[in-house]
Amino acid sequence: MRMKQRLLKNFRREISLMKESFLHLVFPPFCPLCETELKHNEQLICENCFLKINTIESHFCTQCAAPLKKNRKTCDFCKGIDFNFSKVRAFAVFATPLVEMIHLLKYERKTHHAIRLGILLGNLFLSDAELFTADVIIPVPLHRTRMRERGYNQSLLLARMVSSISHKELCSDVVLRTKATKSQTTLNHGEREKNLKNAFCVTVAERIKDKSVVIIDDVFTTGTTLNEMAGTLIDGGAHSVYGLVLARALST
Ligand SMILES: [Zn+2]
Ligand SMILES: [Zn+2]
Repeated sequence: MRMKQRLLKNFRREISLMKESFLHLVFPPFCPLCETELKHNEQLICENCFLKINTIESHFCTQCAAPLKKNRKTCDFCKGIDFNFSKVRAFAVFATPLVEMIHLLKYERKTHHAIRLGILLGNLFLSDAELFTADVIIPVPLHRTRMRERGYNQSLLLARMVSSISHKELCSDVVLRTKATKSQTTLNHGEREKNLKNAFCVTVAERIKDKSVVIIDDVFTTGTTLNEMAGTLIDGGAHSVYGLVLARALST
């Protein structure tokens, strides 16, 4: 009975999120960033604001996706760090207006932003030959307590778009977040590592055995979340792990 109630609750939540997304697409509102009315060909934010996104297309760190000056392969942050993942790609720098878009998606229930942002992420996936060799796509999971509070996982919404664009299998239930971690925003690198230690577990190892995995997340700050999850996947039998994120935060 409890299972039925949970399924019904999840179904209702999905319907409400779909309704919200549909209404926003049918009745385009104002640009949430500059408050100009959206034109018929603009979705979610106006093109003026959209063009201000600082995308990372060339000359970036091969480990953490931070933009680099020409002739450099890794950034100062990555020197001496041996990540569990092979490579991360980020769509853009975590700066205005992408910061606001991610904030709306993550904290303001503007889940329709996952459509446009997910398409951008999907296109980046298709453009990267290394990432494209991956077998499965796995979003960073939320702990059940956070999931209950927020009602949805923004990384899963993004991963669904990447999966449908790339036709790669989405495995959203293979990794669980077993530890209710503190918010990472005020923690330094060492505190983040301690906070996330043993935070994930693999549920069905056969589904990732000898597979190449791409983890989807919204923001890469110090890489602690991605690194811990990649370590869990490698321990669980994955062949290799990559990261694909919307934004690379550069303040640390
Ligand atoms: Zn605007
Ligand atoms: Zn780096």
